[in-house]
Amino acid sequence: MTTSVAVSPRPATGFIRVGEDAKPWITGFRCMDCGAVATEQTLACRRCTSRSPLQEFRASARGRVYSWTVVQRSYPGIAVPFVSVIVELEDHLTLKGTLRVADHDSVHSGMPVRLVFDDAGGALDPEGAPYVGYHFVPFTGDEK
Ligand SMILES: [Zn+2]
Repeated sequence: MTTSVAVSPRPATGFIRVGEDAKPWITGFRCMDCGAVATEQTLACRRCTSRSPLQEFRASARGRVYSWTVVQRSYPGIAVPFVSVIVELEDHLTLKGTLRVADHDSVHSGMPVRLVFDDAGGALDPEGAPYVGYHFVPFTGDEK
């Protein structure tokens, strides 16, 4: 009989957090002096240069497309074409990612999208732990 021990998923990027329940979220940092947000803690706010520590917050999973491009060429093994987007989340944090959408011509600035966490292509760390990545999908309002 083999006993397996569950291994916790590893964040594929520094701004993904994974809770004890293995549910991931995006973390952001907010300047309490000017409200600027970033995906990492910094020594000083990049907007107002305040040296007060930025406050960590759990970022929204919804946002809107700020900019996008349809990628026609990529590394070997990466299926093309795909849509690369910059998304501004509801709390103004901006993330770059892939938008999985059937009709590339439907993508537009301001398009509502939501985050979906995934297995980062099935990659495993040296201990066999899966990675947690993310992508975006159109937000239709029908999701929970
Ligand atoms: Zn600031």
